Order: sequence, then C-alpha cells, then structure tokens
Amino acid sequence: MTRTVVITGAASGIGKAIDELLESRGYRTIGVDVHATDIIADLSTPEGRAKMVAAVKAECPDGIDGVVACAGLALAEPKTVAVNYFGAVATLEGLRPLIKVNAQSRAVVIASVAATMPHDDALVDACLSGDEAAALKAAAGKEDLIYASTKVAITRWARKHAVLPEWAGAGILLNIVAPGVIHTPMTQAIYDDKAYLEQIKQMLPAPIGRYGEPEEIAQLVGFLISPENSLMVGQMLYIDSGSEAATRGELAW
Ligand code: NAD
Repeated sequence: MTRTVVITGAASGIGKAIDELLESRGYRTIGVDVHATDIIADLSTPEGRAKMVAAVKAECPDGIDGVVACAGLALAEPKTVAVNYFGAVATLEGLRPLIKVNAQSRAVVIASVAATMPHDDALVDACLSGDEAAALKAAAGKEDLIYASTKVAITRWARKHAVLPEWAGAGILLNIVAPGVIHTPMTQAIYDDKAYLEQIKQMLPAPIGRYGEPEEIAQLVGFLISPENSLMVGQMLYIDSGSEAATRGELAW
C-alpha cells in the first residue's frame, strides 16, 4: 500500500530532499510551504496552520502514514519562534489525529545541532508553556539566542510527547533529527563568506572534513519515517559531520 507522508518546508533544502527521496521510493508526498509545493500555508500564523490541517484533511480523507515537520527559519527575529516551535507543534499535533493508528505510522521533527549551543531558558520555557504571545515577547532583545532556543524547545516538546499514549501508545513513532551545518539556501550566506565560514567551523567543527548536503539528511529521515524503524522513539539523532561529538565530547554521557 502506498504510504502518504506530509512534509513541511518541502519547497527547499532539506524538506525538498526528503520529498524527492520519499517520492523516489514510491511514497505519496504532500508538501507544505509558503511557495512552490502542494499546499501553500504560512506556518507562522494560526490561520496558516489551520489552513494546512484543513487542506491535508481534504487531500487525504483516509488519513496519512506520517509527517515530517521540517519548515524553519534561521532569522534573528521572533518570527523564527513562530515557525520553528509553534509551527512545528501545530504540524505535529494538528496532523496527529489524521495519522493512521496501525503501528506503522511515523513522525519526524527537524531540530538542529544548535540545540546544544547557548540558548535562552526564559524563551524556551515560554515556548513550552504554549503561550505564543508570551514566547514572541520573550524573544525580543535575545536575537542571537532565538534560533538555538527554538531548537531546544522543539526537542524537549518532542521528547516529552513521543512517549505518550497518543504517540508511542498509538504506534506513531516520533523522533528528532538534528542536522549539523547543511548546504541549503538557509546557510548559503555562510558559504558565501570565507570569514563567516571559518567562524562557524570554530564553533561547529567537522571531524569528517566537510559539512553536509540535504540528501544526506533525507536518508536518515527516509529510515525514520519507514516501517523499518520499528523501535526508535523520542530520540535526538545528530547527523552533523561529527560536530556534536567533537564539541560536547565524552562527558555528554
Ligand atoms: P531552507 O531555507 O532551504 O528551507 C526551509 C523551508 O521552510 C523553506 O522552503 C521555507 O519556505 C519554509 N518555511 C519557512 N517559513 C515558513 C512558514 N512560515 N510556513 C511554511 N513554510 C515555511 O532551509 P533548510 O536548511 O532546508 O532547513 C530545513 C530545516 O532544517 C529547518 O527547520 C532548519 O532549522 C533545519 N536545519 C537546517 C540546518 C542547515 O544547516 N541548513 C541545520 C540544522 C537544522
């Protein structure tokens, strides 16, 4: 039976690579993005999130087999909180009732190795409280910490929810993927500026000697979203050229 998977952020970068890989494997994919895909919806707003859920319902009356919450921004502004945290939660929670309860359903959220970097606890707490207005307010003045904070918050949310009856108990295995530096439009500015690239390399070393490509992230998501992933739940998987292991070292365990 053809598996149907919804992928947010499918118009570009990692989401696009996931969409293409799953299609090449015979999946029916439904992309969600602000442009250039199947469902056009702005996940930074409650209206856009509701539109996304309604459109998926209309396209898939028999339900879906999985969801990949990948849409994201890396802007040093509050909108990044709206997309990376509240948009991702709305995607996972909004689509969960449409996910078939048959022990073969899967979900993935794309976090980041940035979740290991400095973040703002008050902003993370505001996100996890579910109060979007408070979280957007908490982001003001913390521009440099916004991106990492959203990735910490969504990782904590996913770890908390993955084991609950409505996720793991319903056979919907939810896991978290944490890419390192990946060459996409989001990071193009880093690649375009040698000094900036060197600065990033100091922060996020790549023991394998290079950063990654979106297709490499898609391979991992391809496994996590498949029935072959029959046992992994609530895990944060770093796929990052070795950056996390090099920076956090053995004492992270
Ligand atoms: P990208 O910019 O190529 O793609 C992101 C996609 O999200 C775009 O198509 C964009 O239109 C979409 N999007 C942004 N705001 C949206 C909104 N309001 N509503 C709907 N869609 C929206 O970036 P990418 O590198 O492919 O990033 C994908 C995910 O991977 C993001 O969550 C990002 O934080 C994460 N990530 C990226 C890297 C990296 O180095 N590129 C590293 C770690 C994590």
